[in-house]
Amino acid sequence: MIVITIFDGFFQTGTSRVHSNLQNNPIPNWRQPEAAYIHIPFCAQQCGYCDFAIATGKDSSRDAYLDALEKEISRLGKPHPVRSWFIGGGTPTELTESQLERLCRILKQWLPLTGEAEFSIEANPDSTTMEKLAVLSSHGLTRLSLGVQSFQEPVLKLLDRRHDNPQVERVVENARKLKISSISIDLIFGSAGQSLESWKYDLTRGMALKPDHFSTYGLTYEKGTPLWKKMNRGQIIPLEDNEELAHYEAAIDMLEAHGMEHYEISSFANMGKRCWHNQVYWENGAYHGFGMGAARYVDGRREVNVRNLESYIQKVLSGQETTFQSEQLEPREEAVETLGLNLRRMQGANRVRFLKRTGFNIDDITGPRKDYLVQQGLLKDDGENLSLTRRGRHLADWVVTRLF
Ligand code: SF4
Repeated sequence: MIVITIFDGFFQTGTSRVHSNLQNNPIPNWRQPEAAYIHIPFCAQQCGYCDFAIATGKDSSRDAYLDALEKEISRLGKPHPVRSWFIGGGTPTELTESQLERLCRILKQWLPLTGEAEFSIEANPDSTTMEKLAVLSSHGLTRLSLGVQSFQEPVLKLLDRRHDNPQVERVVENARKLKISSISIDLIFGSAGQSLESWKYDLTRGMALKPDHFSTYGLTYEKGTPLWKKMNRGQIIPLEDNEELAHYEAAIDMLEAHGMEHYEISSFANMGKRCWHNQVYWENGAYHGFGMGAARYVDGRREVNVRNLESYIQKVLSGQETTFQSEQLEPREEAVETLGLNLRRMQGANRVRFLKRTGFNIDDITGPRKDYLVQQGLLKDDGENLSLTRRGRHLADWVVTRLF
């Protein structure tokens, strides 16, 4: 699950053939979606840190969920061609082969991929069989985002992850056999008790698999999660901020030394292997979102679907609205969000482009607070682009909330 954080807290939700033109021209439509997110909430069990929209122990509801998903998508009324599908979760690979086949057919009917397209799916190593990958590959899968998190048993145990290293290696090998052109690996740093050497070991093991892309996330203790409860009972002690910063910096140093481009706070890619779909989010472009708990941004309106499985299925199948939150953004609000999201990217926000996109000057949006953060060494302003410094990236949420 890719985490999209929009700093005002409205959303906090919890990734081929990547064609050259798509990479060179990552400019999404700002109003009408060219990207589609589809949420599959099923998970074999809840991981200790997870507060995403998930459903565990509900395997018998998977067909009904696909019925509801099909009905929700069909409300489009006619096919809407897009440039990316991102099937996220939850664990999409918890679906059976025939369910994945059905899902791809639904998407082909209503959201046909057009031109140079990207098709990503999030996968867990323990449920991603060769047969499932073959189904997805036959429908044009271009990008596999694998939730590895760590290569060490004590860390996996702390996070309540189910898989082991041989499963990870097998999935990567199978994806290569099927010529899935982009493989991304998710890793988590800053686990309680994890040393810098332990984190460097995870990075080294990850690089040995030669993925095209890495997403590295600092462990967070979201309220109500099992890990948060353990922390509150004193059973685990989170790392200090400076220790976590050292982990983050080690990731940047090691992955860049390995030839990867650090293109977003948490994202690293080989040349030509950035995730186009996620770049739509950071551009604050429009995107469709379907399924339980899914967020969408269409024509300046942000919406989120209900996060409960039974409620989602019941509402869709009985013809009711599935939207749980809905907000039409005022132009200034949209400009503020755009700047916050643009700053997640290494290139930051370009003054000319920002003005064209939002109708606002960056300096009018930030006022003197920007200069203060530049003086503090957290922002860099070269007159054309405003971006986070290396230190600022680690404190990105803090910096952005102080900018407005
Ligand atoms: S597999 Fe992912 S979505 Fe499912 S419980 Fe674990 S972290 Fe959450």
